[in-house]
Amino acid sequence: MRAESAGVVRRILCVFPRYTSSFGTFEYSYPLTDGVQAFMPPQGLLLIAAYMPENWPVRFIDENIRPATAEDFEWAEAVFVSGMHIQRQQMNDICRRAHAFELSVAIGGPSVSACPDYYPSFDYLHVGELGDATDELIAQLARDPSRPSRQVVFKTANRLDMTCFPLPAYELAELKRYFLGSIQYSSGCPYQCEFCDIPGLYGRNPRLKTPQQITAELDKLLECGIRGSVYFVDDNFIGNRKAALDLLPHLVEWQKKTGFVLRFSCEATLNIAKRPEILAGMREAFFSTIFCGIETPDPVALKAMHKDHNMMVPIMEGIQTINSYGMEVVSGIILGLDTDKPETGAHLLEFIEASQIPLLTINLLQALPKTPLWDRLVRENRLIEDEGLESNVVFRQPYDDVVDTWRRCMGVAYEPAKLLQRYEYQIRETYPRQIERPSSRQQLTWPNIKLGLVMLRNIFWKIGVLGDYKFEFWKFALRRLVRGEIEYLISSMMVAHHLIMFARGASRGRQNASNYSMRLREASVPAE
Ligand code: SF4
Repeated sequence: MRAESAGVVRRILCVFPRYTSSFGTFEYSYPLTDGVQAFMPPQGLLLIAAYMPENWPVRFIDENIRPATAEDFEWAEAVFVSGMHIQRQQMNDICRRAHAFELSVAIGGPSVSACPDYYPSFDYLHVGELGDATDELIAQLARDPSRPSRQVVFKTANRLDMTCFPLPAYELAELKRYFLGSIQYSSGCPYQCEFCDIPGLYGRNPRLKTPQQITAELDKLLECGIRGSVYFVDDNFIGNRKAALDLLPHLVEWQKKTGFVLRFSCEATLNIAKRPEILAGMREAFFSTIFCGIETPDPVALKAMHKDHNMMVPIMEGIQTINSYGMEVVSGIILGLDTDKPETGAHLLEFIEASQIPLLTINLLQALPKTPLWDRLVRENRLIEDEGLESNVVFRQPYDDVVDTWRRCMGVAYEPAKLLQRYEYQIRETYPRQIERPSSRQQLTWPNIKLGLVMLRNIFWKIGVLGDYKFEFWKFALRRLVRGEIEYLISSMMVAHHLIMFARGASRGRQNASNYSMRLREASVPAE
């Protein structure tokens, strides 16, 4: 479904802001690829682009790939921007550049929906999801595209049913330039973890697309050139377990039809380990990774943050169950919790070793607006706004101790030998349990073979020859070569290299300690 045009034509420029360098954006691995420049195509902005009236030309620029130019701004009649809190500074910068061309600028997405007052310079604020606010914004631009005399706020009261969402405008994005593809089946999560803004922003009763929409989106992603992996960006893939079960047979069919050229990953709560029927379906559909917000191995801390659902099965058992279906667990971890003690860092390192999880996003606690944590810290007078600090939370432990613990954990967890040993475990215990994919002519195309060769050459040259952890690399790589595990070598090193390089910077104080940190470091791609 698309919006009505009211008989006029407007040229809309959609600009996605740069990311600040972070643990989760994998930019250190881009030079190992054949031209990847950005992490994932932004679902929200590509959805808005697809919802525009049919006769409105839309241009999409991801500033992680290239900056919007003077020619782009001269072409446009209005600019749309969307992003997360961590992109706040870059979004305000896009607004400033668009205003230099006297363009009206609208902002939507999660950051402005949670904190409209972060964006005083924008002409239009779109607060909430796609819905009546979007129609009002489009009607306003149809009437008059020039800048209003003061800021206008449109708030979504009636959200568009997700079954009416158009297919995101993937054709406007250069999909080959992305590390991962992205897709969304549901929105919202039934749980209420204290630190999380998802239930407040998107609701506790997950809204859904249909399985047919998802397979149509996958067709479109493939047509537009996506390769490798596609990430379900749903807040919790099993937020509605019946819906997940309904979808999986369609994904399996789609994989069989298209020759298993894509692998899937998603985010889900750890209690997915109690659902063997879902795990079996995911294995069949070739899910290879699940991101679980484990947050902490400490049960007292889990209870305090209202994440008791992580204890529905013993954590270690849950991880092993997921591994037994051929899926690697990626884990979110939070340090700086009220329940942390001086020995928390040591316990975390023991947990990493015991779980054999290669990739853990270790963040310092950050209070996000519109969360129960934020409200509690306001009551306790424990929120601070200081751009020089790594978090806006006054920790119970001394600040320097918490940051030192984070740096030490990053440094130790991502020592090359330790990390590659955890990959060794996954190669031995988890990956062999993945579904045996029929080798299809869609997989064995010349572009795919060429891509593999390019990545292999880059890995050997940039890590094996020029890198500074050559010994650990060759120890790992030679085993893969001897056993013919080339695909594992490529997929492991694509992730491991970023983790090793990022963690080095982190342990030397050059990186943010939170993916959500408001502390804005120099972004990776210059905008001017
Ligand atoms: S389970 Fe995940 S998405 Fe749901 S409220 Fe908790 S942290 Fe947020």
